[in-house]
Amino acid sequence: MENRITPPLGADQTIARKYNRAQILNRLRLQGAVSRADLAKQIGLTRSTISRIVDGLIAEKLVHETTSSQNERGRPGILLSLNPKGGSAIGLEIGVNFISILLTDFSPTPIWRDRVYLYQEQNWEAYINKAEQLINTARQIAEDKELPLMGIGVAIWGMINHTKGLIQFAPNLQWRNIPLESKWTELFNVPIYIENDANASALGEYYFGAAKNVEDFVYLSMDIGIGGGIISKGRLFRGASGFAGEIGHMVIDPNGETCSCGRRGCLETKAGRRVIVQRYRDLTQEENMTLEKIIQRGLEGDTVAKMIFSEVGESLGMGIGTIVNLFNPKCVILGWSLGQAYELLLPGITRSIEKSSLAELNQNLIIKPSLNGSDDALLGSIALVLDEIIRESF
Ligand SMILES: [Zn+2]
Repeated sequence: MENRITPPLGADQTIARKYNRAQILNRLRLQGAVSRADLAKQIGLTRSTISRIVDGLIAEKLVHETTSSQNERGRPGILLSLNPKGGSAIGLEIGVNFISILLTDFSPTPIWRDRVYLYQEQNWEAYINKAEQLINTARQIAEDKELPLMGIGVAIWGMINHTKGLIQFAPNLQWRNIPLESKWTELFNVPIYIENDANASALGEYYFGAAKNVEDFVYLSMDIGIGGGIISKGRLFRGASGFAGEIGHMVIDPNGETCSCGRRGCLETKAGRRVIVQRYRDLTQEENMTLEKIIQRGLEGDTVAKMIFSEVGESLGMGIGTIVNLFNPKCVILGWSLGQAYELLLPGITRSIEKSSLAELNQNLIIKPSLNGSDDALLGSIALVLDEIIRESF
């Protein structure tokens, strides 16, 4: 069965209980509404075990009963689903010049969202102060609706040190070693989950997007830079320091141009927003072009734009092929602004993947655009909170 949460080896009874609880919540998350009997069948537990755990979840207000007329015998049947009143989650995305916020209930239905723009030259305290104001507004709305706040998820364009709870380096914002997790844990008194934007986006696609039923996939966040989020067995693969997935800095041409990281020939030097805009300008002498306009022209048949996306697709395919050899993902999701060029990139990517990875690994590989588009990271920040509640220690 798909979307099973893998239990740890040597699980004792407490862990087994948590595991079964997570299984039930995960099933309800994926399927919406399910009867106790179907849960027992799907998870492979007895009806009485399911009922005991479900009773606990109903007492916690995480699950509620709904009556359905869909019973196969024509009688009303009781279905279980996630209870919207179980609580609320706040998600934030901190970008280079903006902060977005989303408040949802536990189901999770959006309740309120906002986005404010800031200037890049403002210091990190200005961003954090603004974020705190937004969080306070969201908390008030949640309180008015009697929804206890379960946690705050934060997706940020930078590298997160999970061991120390630091935003270690956000290159575009020029932030270093910001102890946001401890600051906000103390201030808001709820769990704070901070994640790199590509990782958060990957989790967002796993919960709400194009990879909803996929346990092993790779997400590419593609704009000025190219980031990667790897989901393995339904969990984020972070690596030893939490920095795994820096796909954009994979060297694909050792003699290539110098990258923002100081090395030569990284994937980002061949396939980012700036690269595409510059290349189009060089070939057409047209000024004031944006990536969005070039994508639009390509989709309308502009041969220069099509050629550029074909080349960029080939470069991306080289990077993706290596990832495919290493992680054997079921699918690769193309996200962010370059994800909008999916149709234009796909032929180049496919050609290149065939050359750069083994047939056994690439034959059934699915490549698709993200479903949430520019909301990937924001929805991902909500997923960070839900993921912890649903899995607890798993
Ligand atoms: Zn680089």
